[in-house]
Amino acid sequence: MLINTIATRAQVKPVAEYIDQVQALVNRADLKTANDYIDRNHESVLREWIAITEINAPSGQEQPRAKYIEGLLRKYHLDNIHYDSAGNLIAVRKGTGGGPVIVFDAHLDTVFQPSLQIKATVRDGKVYAPGIGDDTRNVEALLATIRALNEAKIKTKGDLVFVFTVEEETTFKGVKTYVDQNKGKIEQYIALDGGYEGFTYAGIGINWYRHHFIGPGGHTRSRTPPYSATLPLARAIERIYQLAVPTNPSSNLNIGMLGGSDVVNAKASDAWFSVDLRSTSNEVIADLEKQIKTILDEEAARAGMTVKTDVISTSPAASIPGHRDSYLVRMAEAVHRVMGFDPPITNAGSNNSSAALLAGISSISAGSGPCDGSHSLAENCEIEPFYKGIKKVLLLEVALAGVE
Ligand SMILES: [Zn+2]
Repeated sequence: MLINTIATRAQVKPVAEYIDQVQALVNRADLKTANDYIDRNHESVLREWIAITEINAPSGQEQPRAKYIEGLLRKYHLDNIHYDSAGNLIAVRKGTGGGPVIVFDAHLDTVFQPSLQIKATVRDGKVYAPGIGDDTRNVEALLATIRALNEAKIKTKGDLVFVFTVEEETTFKGVKTYVDQNKGKIEQYIALDGGYEGFTYAGIGINWYRHHFIGPGGHTRSRTPPYSATLPLARAIERIYQLAVPTNPSSNLNIGMLGGSDVVNAKASDAWFSVDLRSTSNEVIADLEKQIKTILDEEAARAGMTVKTDVISTSPAASIPGHRDSYLVRMAEAVHRVMGFDPPITNAGSNNSSAALLAGISSISAGSGPCDGSHSLAENCEIEPFYKGIKKVLLLEVALAGVE
């Protein structure tokens, strides 16, 4: 993989050269036809975007939404439309040959409970619905680009593989399975998730823990000490929040949940709290983890108790050496600039792209429109910029897969 990375870097050109190439693409008659098609279909794109959003798809329960999308894909003269063993919906738009295999994904799943009835509303240039942005905007963007490419009869050299993934919001089972089964064949992997003006080229590491202090417990009126296990918990939380959490490399620490006894009149024999630890550097995560462990051990000893730590999940920071200056990142920057963006390019992604990077595949995450309030019932997206976002995705597809 390292050899591959170095070889690829040797051929990488300055961004300015890619900007010239992308500008030449934009000037082609067939690209204009594709963009005109997107402009002529604002209404139907909005209707379809809403229709897909209104099929709720909690992680692990994506099938009804996937079936609806499959029905659309069947009309687009694609190849090899199928589901893989994880339940990802996959379709291939074959190239003329000699080009790379480029994957574009968007995730099907939402964070909302199965019983939620979703009904979108449009007002003041925005569309409101849970899941409208994350990640349905990008699902719809992919569908719209496929239709536009077909309408303009654009034949790419490389294959474009469209992957609608399951379980992005929970376990990354969808992307992990897909990457595992296909990694030797994929040149570049573009995860469309969030985003509009900028993109990410590396993934932040995320570790979740539940730390318990275990003590003797007892009735409120039992002899004190021993105290309730809430005392070392409180002391530990206070100290953990005094740890220096670096902003460069980008890192975060949050204690969001805690619990103790189930009743008022008992000392907690088990008091616990969660830690959400994130950094673009695995060294920073390891260091903070060690400092937290020291605090826990000291506070447990001080209160005469023990510590038990459950690791809820871990996902390492995902980066490839030199990736910031890779072909994919520079070409993606060129596409964004030609579209009129001054893109923030960051290394703190937290989406399917990380799984591809961890497998050694050059990958970015980008998105097709400005939205707000993701993972909340008030989620909304601006409508007008979305059409520009779709054109950007189409340009990225054509630039990366190549045309004759
Ligand atoms: Zn998402």
